[in-house]
Parts: sequence; structure tokens; C-alpha cells
Amino acid sequence: MSDPTTPKQLPGAPPEKNAVEEALAPVAGFGVTFSSMFRPTVTEQYPFEKVPTQPRYHGRHQLNRYADGLEKCIGCELCAWACPADAILVEAGDNTPEAQYSPGERSGRVYQINYLRCIFCGLCIEACPTRALTMTNEYELTGPTREGLIYEKADLLAPLEPGMLAAPHPMVEGTTDDDYYRGEVGGPTRAQVEWVQERRPEDPTLDGAASPAAAGGPASAAEGVTA
Ligand code: SF4
Repeated sequence: MSDPTTPKQLPGAPPEKNAVEEALAPVAGFGVTFSSMFRPTVTEQYPFEKVPTQPRYHGRHQLNRYADGLEKCIGCELCAWACPADAILVEAGDNTPEAQYSPGERSGRVYQINYLRCIFCGLCIEACPTRALTMTNEYELTGPTREGLIYEKADLLAPLEPGMLAAPHPMVEGTTDDDYYRGEVGGPTRAQVEWVQERRPEDPTLDGAASPAAAGGPASAAEGVTA
């Protein structure tokens, strides 16, 4: 029969310590401290020296474009609904033949992200059906005013790369929005360039878009759609 005065070992409880373990227990917590004392000291000299982030770091958002310059955002608001901090505001606008900003019927007319609310969780970019919204590695998001930390569409839109034609302009002839989503548009076509030349002859993006060789873009509808 067991001694009723001996305390019982409860199921799942850690095993009892022996005498040596009992003696070392009060200083065991200093193990990490002592081992760190002999490692080299690393002091980051921010902001004078900026350490690159990890490639998938969640920084400032970016609204992307297709290769012909049309915007990928279709104003569906899924990013705003997915945001747990209610940091995103989207208002869609109708595309028209004279003002086509993205493939299909609608574009993001108003797009705002409030960086005073954003927690950089990335749920918005997961929700985006067109990969319009992604996150860059930019992390220096500060400012002297609250208003300045509400980024508008113009602050978030990806810059036009060489060869892209600034929106608005029509979609590549004979294509649908599905062709755009599938990545089958390789750059602006001659018809798109001519459309912009007629309406905005001063547009600075015409130079690069009009020379497909320099831009890597096509000059005709057939060339504009990749197989
Ligand atoms: S960024 Fe994406 S999810 Fe948000 S409104 Fe535009 S298309 Fe929709």
C-alpha cells in the first residue's frame, strides 16, 4: 500500500527534479543571457543605413497595371470587405468608350488606404481577384499629419513602365477582360497609340509606347495579344 502522506504525481505533470537540478533551477534562466554575452553586437544604423527587408515583407500597397497601361483594379471592393481594420475605401466607376481605365465594365474610381488603421495583415491582397493589389517592401510610412497617411489612388498606382500607355484608352482590339486576366496582352497596340494621339497628343507616354521595339511592346493587334 502506498504511503498516504506522500504527495501523488499527477498525470501530465513534469517529472520531479533531482537534487542537482533543484540547486541549479534559480540560475537556469540566466542561460540565454550568458550565452548572448559572447555573441557579436549588432546595431542597425537606421535611418542612415537601411537594412533590406525579407522579399515577402508586407509594406505599402501598390495598384498594378497591365502591360498596355490599363489598371488591373475593377473596383469590386473585395479588398475593402476583407479588411479587418476597415482601412480601405473603394468606389467603383463605369468604364466608357471615351474613358476606359481598366478591362471590362468597371474600374476603381476612388481608392484609399488609411495607414493609421492598416495592420499590414495582407488579407486584402489575398481577396483581390485580379492581382491588382499587392504589397511592396516599402516600410517608411510616417508623416506629420493624419490626412497625409490616407493614401489616395494616385499614391498607390504603380508607375508606368517604359512602353506602357497611360490610361484611359480602349482595350486591345478583339480582346475581352478574360484575355487580360490570363496575361495575354503584351503591350499597347498601334490602334491604342493612335487613339491616345488623337485625344491627348501631349501625353508623355506616347513616345515610349509608339516605339514597340524600345518598349518591348507590339505594334498591332495581332502582336498585342500573346498566344
Ligand atoms: S484592388 Fe482588387 S479587390 Fe480591391 S477593388 Fe480593386 S480589384 Fe477589387
